[in-house]
Amino acid sequence: MAKDYDVIVIGAGNGGLFTGAFMAKNKLKTLVVEKHNLPGGSATSFVRGRFDFEAALHELCNLGTPENPGGIMKLFMAIQPDIEWATDMEESFRLVIPDEGIDALMPCGVREFIGKLEYYCPGSAPIMMQIVQAGMMCVQAYSFMDDPACTPEVFNEKFPDFYKYAGHSVNEVLDEFGLPPKAKAILETYWCYLGANADELDFAIYIRMVLGYLAYGAGMSKKRSHEISMALEKVIRDCGGEVWYNTEIKKVLVKDGKACGVMIGDKAYECEYVVSNAYPDAVYGKMIDKADVPEYAGKLINSRKRGLTFTTVYLGMNKSMEELGIKNYTTFISPTSDTKKLQEAATDTYEYSGYVIFNCLNKPVPDCTPEGTCQLFLTTAYFGNGWDKVTEDMYYDLKNETARKMIEDCERVLGLDLIPYIEEIVIATPMTFARYLGTPGGTPYGYQVTPVDSFIQRTLVEKDETYLKNLYFVGAASKRGDGYSSCYLSGFDAGKMILRAEREKGGLER
Ligand SMILES: Cc1cc2nc3c(=O)[nH]c(=O)nc-3n(C[C@H](O)[C@H](O)[C@H](O)COP(=O)(O)OP(=O)(O)OC[C@H]3O[C@@H](n4cnc5c(N)ncnc54)[C@H](O)[C@@H]3O)c2cc1C
Repeated sequence: MAKDYDVIVIGAGNGGLFTGAFMAKNKLKTLVVEKHNLPGGSATSFVRGRFDFEAALHELCNLGTPENPGGIMKLFMAIQPDIEWATDMEESFRLVIPDEGIDALMPCGVREFIGKLEYYCPGSAPIMMQIVQAGMMCVQAYSFMDDPACTPEVFNEKFPDFYKYAGHSVNEVLDEFGLPPKAKAILETYWCYLGANADELDFAIYIRMVLGYLAYGAGMSKKRSHEISMALEKVIRDCGGEVWYNTEIKKVLVKDGKACGVMIGDKAYECEYVVSNAYPDAVYGKMIDKADVPEYAGKLINSRKRGLTFTTVYLGMNKSMEELGIKNYTTFISPTSDTKKLQEAATDTYEYSGYVIFNCLNKPVPDCTPEGTCQLFLTTAYFGNGWDKVTEDMYYDLKNETARKMIEDCERVLGLDLIPYIEEIVIATPMTFARYLGTPGGTPYGYQVTPVDSFIQRTLVEKDETYLKNLYFVGAASKRGDGYSSCYLSGFDAGKMILRAEREKGGLER
């Protein structure tokens, strides 16, 4: 009997939407099911008063332009969603560590970045050039991993130096190169985007992201990430796929060790492949009958640590960024350059660590708010389970107090006057993200990146971790980890595996 769909996707976050668009574009009968009334998950926006706030996207990595496309632009060009990009960012970031006298404004462009690093840390340029060379090799090695010609033997022959860097921490490799401490602090600024400190983070993975930002510049969609989500949704529909909203999938059907459908309400929908944008914790823990969950799947979800989570303060200001004296898009304010200390200070606690990322969206998208106004977002990170201890009685005071401290830190460190000009304020905590996304502890970041468990290890054990056939996981909880770019790529990965499986068996019975 014909199945209802070829592919059913649970959740319309970045990973789910990209999978849906890629599958529908490849003519598979696709259904994407989302529990909210709009697509995107974290990739959304919301309106308060006269402000349309970006909910999550600070910057999209590896985008580039249609003329000089990075990996993500190429991915989008393949499915052609209608998105207007803001890609002409000149700055990568500003890093301010007041106690260490660091205030560095870094440009996009590899050459420009090296030049500026030399300006702040004389003597660092030749070392940085070697690091970039090593990084380029890692980037090529990663791309080759996707090549059908890639076998362990061919890989080792082509990239004999890969494991000099992969499997070693950022600090180990940068120390080996002899990069001076101040230059190290600057180069490590993006550590938080991957959710692991520089003693834990794999150099090869980190440098690939940094080069993605530097070579192609950071990007942003002009009408917030909601525009990207809506454009992907349109691709699905235009290609004959379906997207259902206000619909939560609570059960995945399994037969003979193979996912074969979902329950929506009390009706079963059969399909060939189930792709989940919901975390394995939810799928194995709640959505599949216990008898069908392989023992190791349960062990895996209990052994992995959840990724970091945030408190974000969204501010609608009744003055323009120029009037407020704001000059930069992304400023990282940190109490220390010791990323391990910083991560520890933010672990298993609900206390604010003093680390805050300050963004002003009007810099890349000047008309994102009405004239004479601007929108800011301030973000701080937490690792572990601290917010689980927050009781209802504590919640509102804690959230307001944290927001106040974050704003005051930005005012003090950046010399700004913000509080008198706040017209709208929205504060999202790990609890807000948990409620909206349904992720463990409210993480939008998947599982924690550790020296023994990140992209490389997860790729190597991918087959062993496929406990049920025809069930794929996409999004931040997949092997690629968090972030817009990784989540879109995870949808592409799952889609490619499905197409390969289809090709091998000569097409679906329709
Ligand atoms: C404040 C903040 C700032 C960030 N900044 C950046 C940044 O600058 N750059 C960057 O790259 N990344 C950033 N991120 C991270 C990025 O947003 C996430 O990693 C990414 O969006 C996660 O996408 P996902 O595919 O995992 O889906 P999610 O966003 O987790 O969405 C999953 C969707 O599935 C739905 N769903 C779940 N279960 C079910 C079910 N059973 N039935 C139906 N629907 C279901 C949910 O409702 C949700 O819509 C940020 C995140 C936050 C919160």
